[in-house]
Amino acid sequence: MTTLLPRPSRASSARPVPPGPAWPAVALAAAAVMLVTACSGVAGADAGTGPGSRPPAASGAPDGAVAPSSDGAGTAADAGTQPAGPDLTAHSTSDPASPWVVVNKRSPLDPVDHEPDLVTVRGYLVRPDAAPDLAALLDAADADGVHLTLRSAYRGYAKQAAVYDGWVAQLGAREADEVSARPGYSEHQTGLAVDVGGTTTPGCDFEACFGGTPEGRWVAGHAAEHGFLVRYTPGNQAVTGYAPEPWHLRWVGRELAEHLRATGVSTLEEAFGVPGGDYAR
Ligand SMILES: [Zn+2]
Repeated sequence: MTTLLPRPSRASSARPVPPGPAWPAVALAAAAVMLVTACSGVAGADAGTGPGSRPPAASGAPDGAVAPSSDGAGTAADAGTQPAGPDLTAHSTSDPASPWVVVNKRSPLDPVDHEPDLVTVRGYLVRPDAAPDLAALLDAADADGVHLTLRSAYRGYAKQAAVYDGWVAQLGAREADEVSARPGYSEHQTGLAVDVGGTTTPGCDFEACFGGTPEGRWVAGHAAEHGFLVRYTPGNQAVTGYAPEPWHLRWVGRELAEHLRATGVSTLEEAFGVPGGDYAR
């Protein structure tokens, strides 16, 4: 991983300054929000198959995407007793092909240029094991009249490297680490993470205010039942190493997602006992 370390920069003010000409003070608040984003790249600039373009219609209705609430919800197990929970040793947390691989600033993908198998959901690339639940999540939102959209999904090593290098060139390494994940360290490279947005307040996409939108509130309430975890929350920044991102969802499967919600564990790091936090450098 050390080969990825960009050379140090002499431009190292205490507070990262976004690139571009003369940022007015009013823009700094917005800039602060996009700092330390695990999702980008350039926050908001990454779209699955073309920035700004509307994804094509769903290519093929996924099997089992209908009636998500019927899966596992009919049992009496959730009638107040603590669920037994999944076997947390069932899958590797380091194998990049595992559904439970943990990728953070301490644990890059191994190998760092790992490329997962990918399929398309509503125009965005995700791993095949995550696709049915993602389709079900989006279908359920549609059924509830919530205008949830996909804004980003898989992002490969080469693209992340190019984006990161661009930030390093503009800001220096220190500040680049605040705005962009290093290549190999982005959860988006697993194919198991997506960024969602909404149409009611598009200006809140990739912004902290997304959490207060109808789409953001729906996701917070329904992600787990579809196998997703809102990965970066206000309470777990020290553990995850990232500022809250109410739009960033990580697929882990329904059993684990429901278990985490039921037990109040908000991070994969805590669930599996793996290190988190900032880069070791
Ligand atoms: Zn993201």
